Amino acid sequence: MRIVLVGPPGAGKGTQAAYLAKNLSIPHISTGDLFRANISQGTQLGQKAQEYMRAGQLVPDEITIGMAKDRMAQPDAEAGFLLDGFPRNLGQAEALDGILRETGTKLDAVLDLEVPEDEVVRRIAGRRMCRKDSSHIFHVEYTPPKIEGVCDICGGELYQREDDKEETVRKRLEVYHTETEPIIDYYKAQGLVVTISALGKVPEVTKRAMEALGRVA
Ligand SMILES: [Zn+2]
Repeated sequence: MRIVLVGPPGAGKGTQAAYLAKNLSIPHISTGDLFRANISQGTQLGQKAQEYMRAGQLVPDEITIGMAKDRMAQPDAEAGFLLDGFPRNLGQAEALDGILRETGTKLDAVLDLEVPEDEVVRRIAGRRMCRKDSSHIFHVEYTPPKIEGVCDICGGELYQREDDKEETVRKRLEVYHTETEPIIDYYKAQGLVVTISALGKVPEVTKRAMEALGRVA
């Protein structure tokens, strides 16, 4: 299956992508991993991306598209893949269609994870991280530490990342609405969009997604 996963920040996209890819035996191709791999391997695209990042500039779409194209051409992606974070705007979606046309393949589904906006803000803005170990993560409502502001695991101080502040989250949502949401309409016109609610526990959402994908397979 060839799947694109879309959803706002805080929808649990990365987590779901990993489980779904495993269940479907297809590689999980995330933009974050693509950048890390290209940069660490020093590929031409990775070097170019790094130049933009060092200059504090946005990496142009053509670089991201090139990385995705290279990755989709790997043997393990021949039978399918799950894209996570790509395409993130209309230009990238059109480029992806071009790549698929070249290889004579097409997408099977675009899985849209839906979360109400206030829930996104609650999920992200409630996160607290440990200063001593960034893998020690708590949530003021869902997984609160025993003592407010103190890590249960190591006693470190808990803090809220700048990226997780409500104002920042609202801005990220705005970017999602203006840049990424138009691709949902683009894919709706192709009859590819499958929308599920991303509310509830991780395994419940995975099950819902698998059932929805089973209906289009
Ligand atoms: Zn800790």
